[in-house]
Amino acid sequence: RIDDNGAKRKTEIKIGNITVGKDFLVIAGPCSVESEEQIMTIAKAVKSSGANMLRGGAYKPRTSPYSFQGLGRVGLQYLSKAGLETGLPIITEVVDTRDVYLISEYTDVLQIGARNMQNFSLLVEVGKVRKPVLLKRGMNATIEEWLNCAEYILNAGNPNVILCERGIRTHETYTRNTLDLSAVAAAKGLTHLPVVVDPSHATGRIDLIHPMTLSSIMAGCDGLEIEVHSSPNDALSDNDQQLTPSQFNSLMKDIKETLAFR
Ligand code: PEP
Ligand code: MN
Repeated sequence: RIDDNGAKRKTEIKIGNITVGKDFLVIAGPCSVESEEQIMTIAKAVKSSGANMLRGGAYKPRTSPYSFQGLGRVGLQYLSKAGLETGLPIITEVVDTRDVYLISEYTDVLQIGARNMQNFSLLVEVGKVRKPVLLKRGMNATIEEWLNCAEYILNAGNPNVILCERGIRTHETYTRNTLDLSAVAAAKGLTHLPVVVDPSHATGRIDLIHPMTLSSIMAGCDGLEIEVHSSPNDALSDNDQQLTPSQFNSLMKDIKETLAFR
């Protein structure tokens, strides 16, 4: 069970050369895979700055049906090629139970998005595959609801779950969401699962990613998921919150310093 032995037993998940839960995880990459060249350029940049996993969305059901919806299978192929070329394991979101097996063939980690946190049939389906799952907290979910969703995946047979705090909805409109740092520390104490933070979707603001990243580290997170784009202003999704490779590079330096201090 998820609360089994609380703080004592810690889940460690081996993915390529890294052990999540032991090594600090830094997932970086664009919101969406837009072209082969785009993902390859960004993959090389984030790798050289020290990221140890590459992200990129291929299936992107957006708030508006008229917005870019992702490249689908072709996007998975580009992402996988960029991962192989750089040696970075890859993570991408699965939004439909029918795509779980197809996406598992390409990716190292399956991401469940905030909007699907309580999609119970999807949770059971990713529980049946042998790939680690990163479970994002729903924007309206309590900590208990979030942990119960992780339990669905564990119960279906997959012990390799990573929790991800990505901000919740509050009355505040200045930020896209409100980063709940107390949930990070709470989840670390309540479960044996690794907990990572996504400061990009949590804030939706370039200027807040740096302070919230360092605060997340001090709150005890096991890793980060940060959106990086080579040309954020031209991005086909989330162009207000993606760091440039050079912004990411300087953030990485401060991440390393903060980790040494923690
Ligand atoms: C994402 O990380 O690509 C994403 C859509 O984030 P969230 O599910 O947290 O909104
Ligand atoms: Mn995004």
